[in-house]
Amino acid sequence: MKCLKCGYCCHQLTVPIVDVKKKGIAEANMIVKIRGQRCPHLKGDGPGEFTCALHGEKWYKDTPCAGHGRDNVLPDDTCALGAYIMECVKALSQVDTTKPA
Ligand code: SF4
Ligand code: SF4
Repeated sequence: MKCLKCGYCCHQLTVPIVDVKKKGIAEANMIVKIRGQRCPHLKGDGPGEFTCALHGEKWYKDTPCAGHGRDNVLPDDTCALGAYIMECVKALSQVDTTKPA
């Protein structure tokens, strides 16, 4: 699945994550990132620009994050939720906030 880097998962999911990157996946090195909390491994400042500092690690594919949203999609399919969120972001950016509704 192609992630559109909207950042939803990394802000809004409660998910076990690796704590210290260089220690990799080990039971003693896992913490739970709570919904609403920005993941400490998330880089970037806005939807479409977010990236994960752990994606390049060879063990990333074994993390709970890597398994998110992969059911019933082909590897080249775009994340449907991310596509929806990016459409909303685009629509909001076109709202003229200088005029009354
Ligand atoms: S580890 Fe990476 S993919 Fe998982 S929540 Fe954090 S930034 Fe997102
Ligand atoms: S909702 Fe989809 S596009 Fe957005 S961060 Fe999660 S996997 Fe990526």
